[in-house]
Amino acid sequence: MTENGDSTTPRATAGVTRRTLLKAAGATALTAGAVTATTSSAAAEGRPYDAIVVGAGYAGGTVARELGARGMKVLVLEARGRIGGRIEPGTLAGQHIELGGGWFGPGQDLVASELRRYSLTTTEDVHATRMVMPGPGGYASHTPQEAGARLNSLFADFYAGSEQYFERPYEPLHRGDLLASVDRLSLADRIAQLGLTGVDHDWVSGATSVFAGGNRTGSLTGLAQWYQLAGGTYDKFLSVMSELPQGGMISILERMLRESGATVSLNSPVTAIRERGGRTQVEVRGGRVHEAPVVVLATPVNMWSTIAFEPGLPKVYADAAREGLGVPHATKLWLRVRGTSEAVSAQAPEGAPILLLIPQKELPDGRVFVAFTGPALDVSDPQAVRAAVRGLLPEARVVEYRAKEWHKDPYARGGWGLRRPGQLLRQLPDIQQPFGRVVFAGGDIASGWNGAFVEGALESGFRAAEQAAALAG
Ligand SMILES: Cc1cc2nc3c(=O)[nH]c(=O)nc-3n(C[C@H](O)[C@H](O)[C@H](O)COP(=O)(O)OP(=O)(O)OC[C@H]3O[C@@H](n4cnc5c(N)ncnc54)[C@H](O)[C@@H]3O)c2cc1C
Repeated sequence: MTENGDSTTPRATAGVTRRTLLKAAGATALTAGAVTATTSSAAAEGRPYDAIVVGAGYAGGTVARELGARGMKVLVLEARGRIGGRIEPGTLAGQHIELGGGWFGPGQDLVASELRRYSLTTTEDVHATRMVMPGPGGYASHTPQEAGARLNSLFADFYAGSEQYFERPYEPLHRGDLLASVDRLSLADRIAQLGLTGVDHDWVSGATSVFAGGNRTGSLTGLAQWYQLAGGTYDKFLSVMSELPQGGMISILERMLRESGATVSLNSPVTAIRERGGRTQVEVRGGRVHEAPVVVLATPVNMWSTIAFEPGLPKVYADAAREGLGVPHATKLWLRVRGTSEAVSAQAPEGAPILLLIPQKELPDGRVFVAFTGPALDVSDPQAVRAAVRGLLPEARVVEYRAKEWHKDPYARGGWGLRRPGQLLRQLPDIQQPFGRVVFAGGDIASGWNGAFVEGALESGFRAAEQAAALAG
């Protein structure tokens, strides 16, 4: 194998369809009892590992369970002292909070299937009763219906044509011919193309910048694909953030890993992956080396450049790693406020300290809110946080808050994934393929709900498990 991608080792087949994935999820669900027995005895045996999975997030957990279901003995190496990756539960004001991913919604069938498999229920998130939006001279209040209708209309224009270039949103390259002219556009390019000004500009650019962690780095096709996956209207897109799994977003993953029978080694950051004589050697910090016929790299794409590969990764993977896929700014801020218990939601223009504020649980003396902030807010400065909240809700007094800056997290190095301009056409199909005996997994490289969704991590995990099983023979 050489640096430019020539390879003598087999490549797993690319044709894993969405139907195959849903069938795979169902098939192992039916045999869950047998799976547990098989994997438990496999783990107890002193035989060598059949596969090593790097990363105990949703993609890695899916791979571990699916390989365990095939009777394979699996070692999961996780850098952190916890499982979950970009899913991180916490508490504020005695309430369960999600510092990373927390919501799912209609059309996310793999998540729904996992919830059924583990008999987990869901709750609906709080509905806003009022929306604060940018106005001509400051902020203005709207009913959710008024604001929703205007957002629907603005985004119908913004994503015009996406129903054609993403005719099949689960197969994003199906209309590669139409994508050539749009995949190179950033969100900022699209805003400029439409000549948006005034309040329309503020409504659109504020909404896109929060999901993109910046309108210059986020691609139009990244967001447009999510919009089409959700059903092609802005209110359907927002409904993706409407449901909460019982026990928090981590609850499915805990069950997956338990069922996998895999050995999960925490505090084991992988520093090197070497291929030697048809096997892979995986080195963790401190120098310990583990060996198996195949390794599945289930870390964020933004982490790939921190691992030494031998032979070196071909250009297309190296380019993705260098450019990054996790958004460059992703801060989630949880606030406990007094002075208002109203379920008000707020959206600000691009560049504002708080870009999006969403009402959460009502408390006897106020409410919990969750916010996504922009680079303009220093969340380590309580005065700045208080002022930013007052800018949107003058009556609110922040009592306490908790923030997580994912772009500063050493094992994420970015937030949720959103492709950069051009990455879909230049990289996506190739970086879903194994390189030698290294298989790649992760929500960032899913075909469907990629980047910002557990749904995509599951999809990618199912695909990677098939590829790894084929390579392990
Ligand atoms: C703020 C935020 C909000 C989000 N909101 C939502 C939401 O509401 N709904 C939703 O569905 N999704 C949401 N997402 C996206 C969702 O969290 C991710 O898509 C999903 O968790 C990705 O799973 P993954 O397994 O691909 O990656 P990760 O969860 O990042 O897992 C990768 C794992 O690899 C480990 N790792 C990294 N480097 C190494 C190494 N060198 N050695 C060993 N281990 C390593 C990491 O520690 C991590 O545990 C959100 C993400 C963020 C950051």
